[in-house]
Parts: sequence; structure tokens; C-alpha cells
Amino acid sequence: MQIIVLKFGGTSVGTIDRIKKVSNIIATYVKKKYKVIVVSSAMSGVTNDLVNKSKKISKNFNPSEYDVLLSSGEQVACALIAARLNHLGYKSRSWMSWQIPILTEGNHSYSRITFINKKKIIDYIKSGGIPIITGFQGINNLNRLSTLGRGGSDASAIMCAKFFNASKCIIYTDVQGVYTTDPKNLKKAKKIKVISYEEMLEMSSLGAKVMQPNSIQDARLNRINIDVRSSFINKKGTLITKKKNVIRNRIITGITSTKNDAKLTLLGVKDRPGVAASIFKPLYKNSINVDMVVQNISANGKETDLTFTIKSENLIKTKKLIKKNMKIRFKKLIIDKKVSKVSIIGVGMITTPGVTYRMFQALANNGINILVISTSEIKISVLINNKNVKKAIAALHKEFKLSN
Ligand code: ASP
Ligand code: MG
Repeated sequence: MQIIVLKFGGTSVGTIDRIKKVSNIIATYVKKKYKVIVVSSAMSGVTNDLVNKSKKISKNFNPSEYDVLLSSGEQVACALIAARLNHLGYKSRSWMSWQIPILTEGNHSYSRITFINKKKIIDYIKSGGIPIITGFQGINNLNRLSTLGRGGSDASAIMCAKFFNASKCIIYTDVQGVYTTDPKNLKKAKKIKVISYEEMLEMSSLGAKVMQPNSIQDARLNRINIDVRSSFINKKGTLITKKKNVIRNRIITGITSTKNDAKLTLLGVKDRPGVAASIFKPLYKNSINVDMVVQNISANGKETDLTFTIKSENLIKTKKLIKKNMKIRFKKLIIDKKVSKVSIIGVGMITTPGVTYRMFQALANNGINILVISTSEIKISVLINNKNVKKAIAALHKEFKLSN
């Protein structure tokens, strides 16, 4: 049985009219004799609205009730799609994660799917039905609803593709695919035809919003090909696949930028073995993710400066933790909230010398000052002032010929 998974994001099911259009898209696959499994997100704005409601109830909202609340939007979207397909004459029904069931492990709000029981869904497909499955949710070992992190219906679709052995997983969204950089920042951005999991994982972790990073990780581990395309226009999208399938003719594949970063510098830190660990331990204990880190060599062997970045939402907490940390001594704490991380990503840089130089020179030519640098095998990130982000992206896009 040839199964395909179709996933629809929030904007694709954002209005009644959109839900009707999506139902027509589903019907075209059924007419072509595909066995279809649909995974849907909540209508756009709904999950955010639920988050806001929870905040008004309590700042310490019970985590398992939080997941019950947040996962409710998907139920609505699935019922609307299924009922529309019924209206069009198709056999279809909604499936909540617990009815299948979809099993998860991990903390509430950040669970991961471990298993999907195939039986009921396969029987239903065999009987000619189109199952519409709620994305973003599963149940844990206590039989409670769990959610997969914001944007988690991508992961639901990928895991459905894995467990149902689908030949394809199509992610329908509000953009036409993955672009060399966010078209909102640069008009000249180009749609990428094929991209490797590794590059896509870096791109989505570094600011590209098309797909949830966890879902790319799941796809990579399970070798699921993902087709990202628009539910608004019928055009070829982007294929996310293994490196081997990517014909390489470029060094850099994409450029991303982040918002909401904050940079902290501790000046005159008393230098001794273990000092960096002492600074970061309380942050780790409070689940604060530290991103870029630079420590200077101390000139006099006694004091050093240490700079690192975090998400700005964690700034207040981080400041408090540093100030009350008795294990460290420093002269001054400097904070800069007007920073963004711009990254270039591409597996081509592994084998091409001079990429770092070209990036830095292109930024220098445009008068852009680099505050912090970090690199991995396939990416180089620089922290720069917010106001230079668009200029930096344009310069790098040109330097690495991404519009060609
Ligand atoms: N509705 C959920 C969210 O907004 C899941 C998703 O859209 O993928 O995060
Ligand atoms: Mg999404």
C-alpha cells in the first residue's frame, strides 16, 4: 500500500475558506489513488491565544493541563477538515492522538514521539477512509496528553511517515519552500530546490522558520524525504533529503538571522580553573540555553573577560542568577540587547577554503562590525548589531552568489 502523509500548517487551515481549499488538495491525491494520511496543525493564531489564556490563569500553570489546553486547537482543525471531506462525498474522520494512540516520552511541552500504533489507522485506510490526525500531540506513559514543542505538528507528520512507511511526506505551508534567506529580509532570495537534512537542521535552528528543528532531526534519523510546498499556489517546493541526493554546485546554501538574542559580557572575571563552569552551571540548572561563548586569554593571568549570548526572554532571569552567584567574582556586567546572529550555512564549506575570510571581508566592506563569532563544520555565525542585519544578509547573499 502506497501511503503519503500530507501535513497542513496553521495558515493553511487558518480560515474556513482555507479549510475548504485544503480539503480540495487532499481530494486531488485521493483521486490519483494515493492512500492519504493527513496531519493538521491548529488554525493559525489559536495556539498563541491558548498560551495567552493560560498566562491569565496562572504563571505556574500545571504542565499537564497546559498540554491539554494547548493541544485543543488541533482537534478543531481536524474535525473541520474531516467534515468538509464528508461534505464532498469522501469517507473521512478525525483521529485524536490518544485514539490511535501516538505515544510520547519526555517532559510536558517538549515531548518526542516514540511509537505510533498502526493498526486502527491502517484498517481505516483499507476501508477507504481518509484519517485526519491531530498534529502536535500524543500521550505519555501516564496516559496524559503531551505536546511536542511549538511547531510540533511537523514532527507528528514526520513520525507518521516513519511508522506508516509512507513513500512521501509533504509539508504544506504558507511559503513556497525553503529560501536561500528569508524573502522578508531580501527580495532576491531564491527558492532552494534540494537541501540536505544537515543544512536544513542548521537553518531551522538558526532562524529559518519553515520547519521545527526537532522534526528535521527525526526525518534525518529515519531517512524520510520531505517535500515543503505552498498550500496557496500549486508550484514545486523544496525537497529535504540526504546529502547524497543533493547535487552540489554551491558553497553556501542559505543565510539565516535570529531575533531576540541578548549578549552578556562579564568584565574582569577572576580567572581560575572551573570559572566558566561556575558561571554556566546555574543557567543550565534553570534550563537557560547559552549560545555563543567567547573567553579572552587573560593578559595578566589573573583576570579575563567572558562574553556569551542567550535568548532575550531569559535575560532577566540570567542577570539575577549571575548577580547572586557567589562562586564567581567579576568587575562589571555589560548587557547588549540590540544584537542579532547572522549565519551562513552550507556543507560546501567543509571542502572549500576561504569561506570564513570571504564572510568577514564582505561584512567589513559594508562597515559591519562583528561582535562574536562561532562556527561548526557547516556554518559560520556572527553576532552583529540589529540595525545591520538586512545589510549583512544582502552582502553575504551577493558574496556567495546565492541569487544566481
Ligand atoms: N499548533 C501548534 C503550534 O502553534 C503546533 C504547530 O503549529 O505545528 O505550535
Ligand atoms: Mg509550523
